[in-house]
Amino acid sequence: MIRLACIVLAALALPAVPAASQTLRFSTVVIDAGHGGKDGGSVWNGLIEKRLCLDVAKRVEAGLKSRGLKTVMTRRTDTFVELDQRARIANRVPSSVFVSIHFNGSRKTIISGGETYYRSPRGKILASAISRSIKSKVPGGSRGIFDADYKVLRETQMPAVLVECGYISNKREAARCADPAHRQKLADAIVSGLLAVRAR
Ligand code: ZN
Repeated sequence: MIRLACIVLAALALPAVPAASQTLRFSTVVIDAGHGGKDGGSVWNGLIEKRLCLDVAKRVEAGLKSRGLKTVMTRRTDTFVELDQRARIANRVPSSVFVSIHFNGSRKTIISGGETYYRSPRGKILASAISRSIKSKVPGGSRGIFDADYKVLRETQMPAVLVECGYISNKREAARCADPAHRQKLADAIVSGLLAVRAR
């Protein structure tokens, strides 16, 4: 009981500002809208993933620009871009982090919620912050962070994450994702997560 109280007190005493080891230095965010062109991504409940990805990516771009950050988009139209080309675009951008935006689909249609993937330790810092932000700000929440060997995470040289914004295979989540107001909440949460770890 006493030990539990100590743990609770220690948790309360944690500073609100992240420790220096938990921050990242960057001035530009490379925003990667998943899929595009001939690659639609997941198609469920009347939604096509590539369109949702581009919509959220543009909202993230606007949010970051309004807060004084620079952005680079790997695509801004409904075009097909190879995965290694996305990484090449990102690797040309100094002082950057990389955020790939996707929506999920599963035959297990009961599954819902966001997921954030990383590969490097610095990517994990970013993934944790974005996942926390989605959990607290977005209906449907976050299922957590996961280590994954995705090509865009493997081939990018900067801290990189891939955000699965939700399962469009789940009827309730699909209905939410179809709503522009929900997609704005997703974008705001991604922007907040990025700003939360940015070193000042
Ligand atoms: Zn995808």
